[in-house]
Amino acid sequence: MTAQLVLEPGRERSVMHRHPWLFAGSVARLSGRARPGDTVQVVSDRGQPLGRAAWSPHSQIRARMWSFDADESIDDAFFKRRVAQAVARREALPGLRGARALRLIHAESDGLPGVVADRYGDTVVLQLTSAGAEKWREAITGALRLATGCARVYERSDSEVRTLEGLEPRSGPLLGEAPEGPVVIDEHGLRLEADVVAGHKTGFYLDQRDNRWLARSLAAGRRVLNCFCYSGAFSLNVLAGGATEVISIDSSAPALEAARRNLALNPELTAGRASWRGADVFEALRQLRSAGERFDLVILDPPKFAPSSAMASRAARAYKDINLLGLRLLNPGGLLMTYSCSGGVGAELFRKIVAGAAVDAGVDARVTHRLAAAPDHPVALAFPEGEYLKGLVCQVG
Ligand code: SAH
Repeated sequence: MTAQLVLEPGRERSVMHRHPWLFAGSVARLSGRARPGDTVQVVSDRGQPLGRAAWSPHSQIRARMWSFDADESIDDAFFKRRVAQAVARREALPGLRGARALRLIHAESDGLPGVVADRYGDTVVLQLTSAGAEKWREAITGALRLATGCARVYERSDSEVRTLEGLEPRSGPLLGEAPEGPVVIDEHGLRLEADVVAGHKTGFYLDQRDNRWLARSLAAGRRVLNCFCYSGAFSLNVLAGGATEVISIDSSAPALEAARRNLALNPELTAGRASWRGADVFEALRQLRSAGERFDLVILDPPKFAPSSAMASRAARAYKDINLLGLRLLNPGGLLMTYSCSGGVGAELFRKIVAGAAVDAGVDARVTHRLAAAPDHPVALAFPEGEYLKGLVCQVG
């Protein structure tokens, strides 16, 4: 018998608005037995059936909705359908059709809570971050093979958020062999490595693809500073766009090695215009200022300073600091391209932080572009939490 998760009175409202998370405070009781990841029936306090969810007793998010249809079975066929729909959704967008380096499944926003799948050529990288997703690993792997024809599925479930669900980190091949080295992908004509086995996230930051294209279109004739450069994808894009020089900073030595290899993979770009610095960005920005350096485009793409809203105020100080320092390095007419990928910092809060940084830096600036993740990272209308990446281009002077 499927266990029943009974909600507190009134808590059915968010489910009826198709929000997929049921927090501990919304759950009145579980009647019947369920192990972590098991499928439960969700009902209102009056017994109205609302759908089916994955039970996750160790997480504050006690259950995640698989389906808002109380009669839909959660089985292999369900995952086949959901995965095929997610892949088809991308194929239906002209800008993504035929793409071989893209996010195929964006978790809750594709109706698959806790499931992320990124494609790099013939390799699909799967990341499972919830108890429910964990339970269906094999079904999801099989569905991905079927929907993409890819012979290799590699798991990178080593994200820290798994600990909130009581899950251990787990990485390794699920289908086919582990790739022998980084997979080389194409991004708007550039060749770039995705290090599926050892790189950050699933190997590469696909979410910034279109923002890097924008950076390329803004770069002609500009001296560029790219902070938190990882494997140099923004740096190579601005070089392709005609930047006169790009200085790139990251604290990770392996990331900078990958960046140098990426530059070598694109011999048409004049290598002499690029330099790489292994440093802490907070310190490096201060040093560049004392050295009297100036730039025409500063890119700030830091890691997640605030994974949750509880950490937002500390994160706000860090964002303000780098934005203030970045703005001070700009020549008149210069551009600041600045991002936050913190779920705990919303777009409006981020704008306020950057506005505060501009006041303290004594610069007059206006927003020319408001940015988000690329369309292969869609955000379900009912799930604003899916909108983690936000960015601004600000023009000074
Ligand atoms: N812009 C990149 C992604 C950046 S991810 C792209 O488009 O691919 C964030 C990067 O910040 C990581 O490479 C990480 O190594 C680096 N990083 C984190 N904290 C840092 C710090 N304090 N100083 C310098 N780099 C840092």
